[in-house]
Amino acid sequence: MQLTFWGVRKSTPTPHPRTLKYGGNTPCVEIQTPEGHRIIFDCGTGLTHLGKQLSTATPPEGLRLMVFLTHFHWDHIQGLPFFAPLYDARNQVYFHCFENQGMTGKDALGGLMLNPYFPVDMTVMKGQKNFYTVGEETLQLFDVEITSRHVNHPQGCLGFRVRAETGVFVYVTDHEHGVPQFDQNVRLLAEGADVLVYDAQYTPAEYRSHVGWGHSTWEEGISVARDAGVRDLVLFHHDPDHSDLFLDKMLIQARAYFPQLHGAMEGTQVNIDRVRQVPTFKSGIEQRYCQRVPLPQPLAVRLRRVGQPETEQTELQDLSLDGSFFLVDHEWDIGTELEVEVDVPAGPDRPASVLRVRGTVARSEKQQEKTGIGVTFRARGAGNQ
Ligand SMILES: [Zn+2]
Ligand SMILES: [Zn+2]
Repeated sequence: MQLTFWGVRKSTPTPHPRTLKYGGNTPCVEIQTPEGHRIIFDCGTGLTHLGKQLSTATPPEGLRLMVFLTHFHWDHIQGLPFFAPLYDARNQVYFHCFENQGMTGKDALGGLMLNPYFPVDMTVMKGQKNFYTVGEETLQLFDVEITSRHVNHPQGCLGFRVRAETGVFVYVTDHEHGVPQFDQNVRLLAEGADVLVYDAQYTPAEYRSHVGWGHSTWEEGISVARDAGVRDLVLFHHDPDHSDLFLDKMLIQARAYFPQLHGAMEGTQVNIDRVRQVPTFKSGIEQRYCQRVPLPQPLAVRLRRVGQPETEQTELQDLSLDGSFFLVDHEWDIGTELEVEVDVPAGPDRPASVLRVRGTVARSEKQQEKTGIGVTFRARGAGNQ
């Protein structure tokens, strides 16, 4: 089973250089079952990009797509009017939603495109649309089994567990911890999961002023993961005000308590395969963001812990959009704050200079005699967010 993150942000699309790494699209997660069937969870703006990819690869007989909505809040449906496969008469889309105070999924989603909110209504979507109401139940779909349970969120929300022969994926977003019945539902869904995607919109400190808003924290995610014996925990539904730098720091802090913890990142693919044990996480960021560009010639670099006098000499050999990778003699802890000095040689129209930036150690791994460290640089003006 393969899962792909198309949108990971809450509330409103957040395109900005400060959110480029984790991504600014609102929730949409796609899974491909072991037999290759597609199931889509939530229809935030990430869905638009999935739709573009699907329409370039539509077979002559059309697509059969299963869509499960957690709930009807804007950030989980706003990609729907722009989902290209819905406009193709060959396609069949099966929506699964809960009934909200007497309003079916068909009514709720049809309302999205009523005059004057959108230039055309849903009838111009020539793809065949089918609507199913789901509650707390277990459905057999293709080669997987999907279990749904209510979680704690204003106006209701469903969490989902997908069990395939190759493993278990669990999707719990828009859930606030603290109500025993719902907390129990979350643990029931997450039991023994290979991958749990969990709403960690707030830090524990932020949560104190957001009680009742319907969201959770990384601390609670770890508590669920431990109670339920989850292997990999993926923090999801990032706050629009949390920049990449903020999330990097939050993840470093949280990993100290649960090492198999990740931040959901647009474009990342996750393979869940207990049988073949293929590598689990393949970062989309490698393709669109962290690709390292080699420098024409290595530059001399000095690294110094902030506030410490000793420096370590090394070389800058390549650069990505947010940092670089260095080989050093000593061990450096993840999270260490660094001052980085780079000797920039003279060019035809400029003298030699020294470039000084602040950085944070984001990765640290042994490489034969040395330690390899990934350092993220702090952009000027990025502040602490
Ligand atoms: Zn949401
Ligand atoms: Zn919501």
